[in-house]
Amino acid sequence: MSLLEVRNLRKSFGGVSAVADLSFELNSGEMLALIGPNGAGKSTCFDLLSGQLRADAGRVLLEGRDIATLPPQSIWQLGVARTFQVPAIFSSMTVRENVQMALISRHRAVWRFSRPASALFRGEADTLLAEVEMARQAERAVGVLAYGDLKRVELAIALAGSPRLLLMDEPTAGMAADARGALIGLARRLVRERGLAVLFTEHDMEVVFGAADRVLVLDRGALIAAGDPAAVRENQRVRDIYLGVE
Ligand code: ADP
Ligand code: MG
Repeated sequence: MSLLEVRNLRKSFGGVSAVADLSFELNSGEMLALIGPNGAGKSTCFDLLSGQLRADAGRVLLEGRDIATLPPQSIWQLGVARTFQVPAIFSSMTVRENVQMALISRHRAVWRFSRPASALFRGEADTLLAEVEMARQAERAVGVLAYGDLKRVELAIALAGSPRLLLMDEPTAGMAADARGALIGLARRLVRERGLAVLFTEHDMEVVFGAADRVLVLDRGALIAAGDPAAVRENQRVRDIYLGVE
């Protein structure tokens, strides 16, 4: 059984069919790219998978269980995390404290006055920071970090929830080219080392084709191509509709 199986998913806004009859599968230890021009329906797809939006029709099966109608919090508890939309970042707190807060929330730990929060999950927080190569900046305030480093902290916060599936909608938006490759490369490593499944969107096609195991191409809500990077890159429809436009 696939970790994630999406079947005939649909979502319209008024007359606009944002996601039209979309079906695909994603396995643990797999990095899947979802690409397509602006307005293709990528973000809508992420919103449907994370519970931010309710589908008009279709099923979203997580290890066979239909999560399509669950609220975001329940989907998160089942192990589906979404990066880079993390409201719980406290800019005056340190990098480590932010990750500790995420761990406290995950474990629903009681924050006792008798025990300073700084002691809770400190070791776990440092382990996660090492995974995202931020251990040396653990004591810095989040508010002073470079943008690319902030993204790494957000990734550590997402990992604090022990996700099985990580959804990354344009994780590298606003980043310089070399930092983009580095962040996606980091996600790639987490897929390999943790057996995580990742669904991501990225504008830089070289980064997409270099990191993804498989690529899905959306156009006007519909899947127009799917396969390994080499096959998708050669697909004439993809070249016409998408890659030629870049
Ligand atoms: P992408 O992320 O691929 O750029 P989106 O999923 O954001 O595409 O948008 C897909 C289509 O759905 C677009 O035509 C967009 O205008 C429309 N759309 C997205 N969200 C809404 C919304 N909340 N209300 C109305 N239309 C929307
Ligand atoms: Mg989008």
